Amino acid sequence: MKTPRRDDELVFLPLGGSGEIGMNFNAYGYGPPDDRKWIVVDCGVLFGRETTSPGVDLIMPDIRFLAEQRENVLAIVATHAHEDHIGAIPHLWPMLRCPVYATPFTAILIEGKLEEAGLSDRLHPRRVPLSGRIALGPFELEFISITHSIPEPNALAIRTPLGVVVHTGDWKIDPEPMLGEVTNVNALKRLGDEGVLATVCDSTNALVAGESGSEARVRESLTALIGTLKNRIAVTSFASNVARLETIALAAKANGRQVALVGRAMHKITDAARQTGYLKHFPPILDEAEAAQLPPNRVLYLVTGSQGEPRAALARIADNNHPNVSLGKGDAVIFSSRVIPGNDIAIFELQNKLAGLGVELLTSEDHFVHVSGHPCRDELAEMYRWTQPQIAVPVHGELRHQTEHARLARSLQVPQAIVPENGQLIRLAPGRAGVIDEVPSGRVHKDGRVLIDEGAGLSRQRRALAFAGMIAITLVLDGKGRVAGEPGIIIEGIPEPVHAAIRGALAEPLKRHNAKRDEDGRDLAESVRRAARRAAENAWGKKPVTRVEVVQI
Ligand SMILES: [Zn+2]
Ligand SMILES: [Zn+2]
Repeated sequence: MKTPRRDDELVFLPLGGSGEIGMNFNAYGYGPPDDRKWIVVDCGVLFGRETTSPGVDLIMPDIRFLAEQRENVLAIVATHAHEDHIGAIPHLWPMLRCPVYATPFTAILIEGKLEEAGLSDRLHPRRVPLSGRIALGPFELEFISITHSIPEPNALAIRTPLGVVVHTGDWKIDPEPMLGEVTNVNALKRLGDEGVLATVCDSTNALVAGESGSEARVRESLTALIGTLKNRIAVTSFASNVARLETIALAAKANGRQVALVGRAMHKITDAARQTGYLKHFPPILDEAEAAQLPPNRVLYLVTGSQGEPRAALARIADNNHPNVSLGKGDAVIFSSRVIPGNDIAIFELQNKLAGLGVELLTSEDHFVHVSGHPCRDELAEMYRWTQPQIAVPVHGELRHQTEHARLARSLQVPQAIVPENGQLIRLAPGRAGVIDEVPSGRVHKDGRVLIDEGAGLSRQRRALAFAGMIAITLVLDGKGRVAGEPGIIIEGIPEPVHAAIRGALAEPLKRHNAKRDEDGRDLAESVRRAARRAAENAWGKKPVTRVEVVQI
């Protein structure tokens, strides 16, 4: 490693993933303040929610600070293939146009996204072997295998002339992950001995005591549970949790059942896993139509939709309109997954529909059918013992997770813990670490085919429309500003009994209109707008969005 120049600094800049679980986007900068080189670690999305951002599919970080100096952005490096780490690449890469690095399984899934976005001619992710190393300007990166809930999760050791950062990515300690490598504890300890400046670490489960548990135990438990069931079984899980898919398939096989994959994501992920050498022991798969011909106790459906996603296979099965799969009395659905906060309403609605069909529901509430992919407190403690950093930087969490994580790190004798916020520029070295600047940051919504700044206020406007509907009024004036006809009124999303009150409220301001003093009708438009809103409020208790247009003939 070169020796640092006099003005060199190593900085950390989260633009997403701090203060929220999702949308991970972390940048590391190195060099003098006026000429920093950057690498980006992960580029993920957050899913829109109907309640807060109606009509928005995806939420992404605002990266204009880096886009404006994209010649200094050396690469995007993906730690693993979850959507909250790679989902924004097709949307944000065109603003950076730098190389993208990932291990093979992750690279295949990124390629799939680029193809869908029509970008596969312009960007080919560069494949890094497991435990591989890459040099990027002043940075040297080492990929370190860890365990999580998807194939090929990696921590990164980021070496710079001013010190080494361990960026954990998403991880847990699973001594028997059942697929892929175990955590490379030796590599992490070696870094600790070498001397780690900062550990930038997953906070998802920082509020949960103990350990997350092993996939091997889930495999035993699911095998036993499936043995107790006599009719058709559907198991739903995240398609990306390939070890879990294998667990479910082997549990089915052990109980004399054949497996059918239901849902596009299941096929996409298992194809990517096979191409990269995983799933060698996966039993042969039936297609949905073949499976329907089997006796009920000989089949197991592996289905998408554990989070209540309305277009996924399980939702269609629950609505009884799936072309090949139907479930009914005596059949069982196992949710081998957790309820992601925010999805609870959709999941319970789905479960109610299934219960209505007479289907038995088995969930992680009362059966051991799932383990988390993120580190609980004992595992976090282990990570700090291995890496022994000078600074702990908790990321990948809401503020409550991050602050508790920081407290835990301090209790483990980490000299300094910094809870970052998106947009804060944090100097890690030289000198004592701390926030030195704030850069533009925020969220961008993918709304249909358009990317739009969250600050533009569209979501607020849509929520207002959803809450109280709208009134559109057209006033017609002649060339001298005199009222020339009845106003046109369009009312949307407002209960019928309120309409008369709104219409009736316009007479008064129209009567008071003074054409001489208000020739363009601007004052009239405002008093009509207010009168309509007031009438709605008096009759209904709500103020609709109200627009008034003046047409002069
Ligand atoms: Zn994540
Ligand atoms: Zn993850």
